[in-house]
Amino acid sequence: MPLDKDLSYQSKAKLHDYVPIVGRGTIEALYTLAEALSGKTVININSTFSGGGVAEILTRMVPLLNQLGVDTRWMVIKGNEDFFTVTKKFHNALHGRKENITPEDYDLFLDVGKKNVEEMQLTGDIIFVHDPQPIILISKKEEVGERWIWRCHIDVSNPDLDVWNFLYPYIIHYHGTVFSAPNFTRKLPNRQFLIHPSIDPLSDKNRELPESTIDQVLNKYGLDREKPIILQVSRFDYLKDPVGVIEAFEMVRKSIPCQLVLAGGTATDDPESDKVLEEVRDRASNNNDIHILLIPPESDVEINALQRAATIIMQKSIKEGFGLTVTEALWKAKPVVASSVGGIQLQVKNKFTGLLCHSIDGAAYALKLLLTNPEYAMQLGKNGQEHVKQNFLITRHLKDYLMLFLFLYYDNDVIYL
Ligand code: UDP
Repeated sequence: MPLDKDLSYQSKAKLHDYVPIVGRGTIEALYTLAEALSGKTVININSTFSGGGVAEILTRMVPLLNQLGVDTRWMVIKGNEDFFTVTKKFHNALHGRKENITPEDYDLFLDVGKKNVEEMQLTGDIIFVHDPQPIILISKKEEVGERWIWRCHIDVSNPDLDVWNFLYPYIIHYHGTVFSAPNFTRKLPNRQFLIHPSIDPLSDKNRELPESTIDQVLNKYGLDREKPIILQVSRFDYLKDPVGVIEAFEMVRKSIPCQLVLAGGTATDDPESDKVLEEVRDRASNNNDIHILLIPPESDVEINALQRAATIIMQKSIKEGFGLTVTEALWKAKPVVASSVGGIQLQVKNKFTGLLCHSIDGAAYALKLLLTNPEYAMQLGKNGQEHVKQNFLITRHLKDYLMLFLFLYYDNDVIYL
C-alpha cells in the first residue's frame, strides 16, 4: 500500500513562535485565511518522504497547515527501483538533458501509475500532486476531490518534448498548475499560479545552533574549524555538478589554504545517486582537503551545523529547480557562489546577495574573491539573509498556498476542463 506520513515527531515550533521573525500581522492573516478553509481536507502526494526539496518543504508545510486548522495530509506513491529509474530520466529530460527513454520506460511509468491509481485510497477536497511521478493520479478526478492541483517543482521551460507531450494530457486535466518561477513554465490551457518555495526558519535545518553543537558536528566529520570551509550540500546528482565543484576548489586550493566539504545523501526516488557518489569519491580520493560526507536522511541539525560552519557555500548546479540549499545558506547570512540557473537567479542577485558563476573558472574566481575579501563576503551574506526574510520564508509560502486553495475552491466562475 502507498504510505501516509506521520509527522507527529517533527519540529514543535508553533505559529506564534514566528511572530518575532515576521511580525504578528503576518501570522494573524494566516489564521484569517485558514478559517475560510475549515472543514476542508488537503492531500499532498509526492514520491518520497525524504531527500530533496519537495520532501523538505512538505515536512514543515503539512504540520503548520494543520496547526492553522486545515486538515492536511501527506502521502507518497509506491514505486520500485525500475520505476524511479524511469522517473529520474523524466526529471532530467524535463530539465532539458538528453536521455534515452524507451517505449518500455513509458509503459512502466503507466503501469506503476495505474497500480497507484487502483491502490491509493484518496479522500479529500483538494488534491495537491507534486511533480511528474504521481501525475497519473488525476485519473481519479471524477471519483475523488473537488479540486486537483499539479505542483511542478521543475524548470520545464526547455524540456525534451517527447516527455513533455507524454505528460501533457494529464497536466491539462488538473484544475490548476503551480510553478516556482515565472520562467519555469510553458503554455498551458489551465490556470497557472506562481509560488516560490521557502524554508522554515525554526526547523532543525535552519534554527540557530549553539557553537558547541557546531563544534561537535565538525569533530564528528574530522573538519578543522581553523581552516576556511567551502561547502556544497546536495543529493549526489550530476545536475548538481559535484565534480565541477571539486575542480573549482582545486584551482583555489593551489593558492589559498582551505577545505572542501561535499555533504549529501541519496533519495529513495533517485537511484542514480550511488553511481554519482562513487565517481565523486574516486575523483576526490587523493586530496585530504576534500571531505565527501554521506549524510543519512533526517540529519537536519548536522546539515545546519555544516552550513553555519562554512566560510562560503556553493551551489554549482547545471540545472536547478528552486535550489533550497541556496535559501538555507542565505538565511544563515553566508556568502554564496552559485550557478546562474533556475531559481538560484531569484535568490542570488549578483554582487548583492552573492556571486553568480557560469563556469568552473568563474566559480574559482568568485571563491578566491570572497576568501580574500571577508568584509565583502559578510556584506553579501547579510543582504542575502534580508532577501530571504522578505521573500522565501515558510510564512509567505503558507499564505500563498491558502490563497491558492481558496481561489480554486471558491472560484465557481471558471470553467474547468
Ligand atoms: N538535503 C538534505 N540532506 C542532503 C542533501 C540535501 O537534507 O544530504 C536537503 C537540503 O538541505 C535542501 C534539500 O534537501 O533542503 C534540497 O533541496 P534543493 O531544492 O536544493 O534540491 P533538490 O534536491 O530538490 O534538487
